[in-house]
Amino acid sequence: MAEAVAAAEVELPLVAFADAVAGCTRCALAKSRTQVVFGAGAPDADLMFVGEAPGFHEDKQGVPFVGAAGQLLGKLLAEIGLSREEVYIANVLKCRPPGNRDPQPEEIAACESHLFRQIELIGPRVVATLGNFATKLLSGRPDGITKVHGAPQEVVLGGSRVTLFPIFHPAAALYTPRMLAVLEEDFARIPDLLGVAALPPEPEEPAPAPAEQPIQLGLF
Ligand code: URA
Repeated sequence: MAEAVAAAEVELPLVAFADAVAGCTRCALAKSRTQVVFGAGAPDADLMFVGEAPGFHEDKQGVPFVGAAGQLLGKLLAEIGLSREEVYIANVLKCRPPGNRDPQPEEIAACESHLFRQIELIGPRVVATLGNFATKLLSGRPDGITKVHGAPQEVVLGGSRVTLFPIFHPAAALYTPRMLAVLEEDFARIPDLLGVAALPPEPEEPAPAPAEQPIQLGLF
């Protein structure tokens, strides 16, 4: 009961803030979006992911990372023993850029305070930035993801010290096995950054028992 009350206390300000952002008209994307995609997950998550911007499916459903890149994100999370419900997932931009083009500097500038406030309300210990846009915005540095991926940085976000962990965007790994391997390697470091033990590897499937040899009936 006390836990439910505590969760509601954390949830309410975030829900109220999401309601306020739902009507945002700070940039031109307000005219072309279906809806604002605020974010999803645990309102008091220790681990938060920040992607780039909603795509076609996210814009339609109002939930971040529900398309192909989102499926991969879910699989990568499962590999380290986490589910989408245990983390918080958001984007740099809360509205879909037409045709999934890159976010423009003026759109990022208009939207960034929503993300900073979101981080402040959630209070994660680790923020994993997915790709260049989130990494550059939240690190405050121009270094690209190829250079800084897999290297944790200590930053102050939303007034608190946070471990920023830049990793490649799952969309980049969808069709590039080499990139997927790097992403899996970087993901494997997340439990350590959270200070929790990584899950032991799944036990190997026991080898199927050899099928019983049918009794060879002598035909003659
Ligand atoms: N790519 C993103 O960066 N965010 C989404 O929500 C979906 C795809």
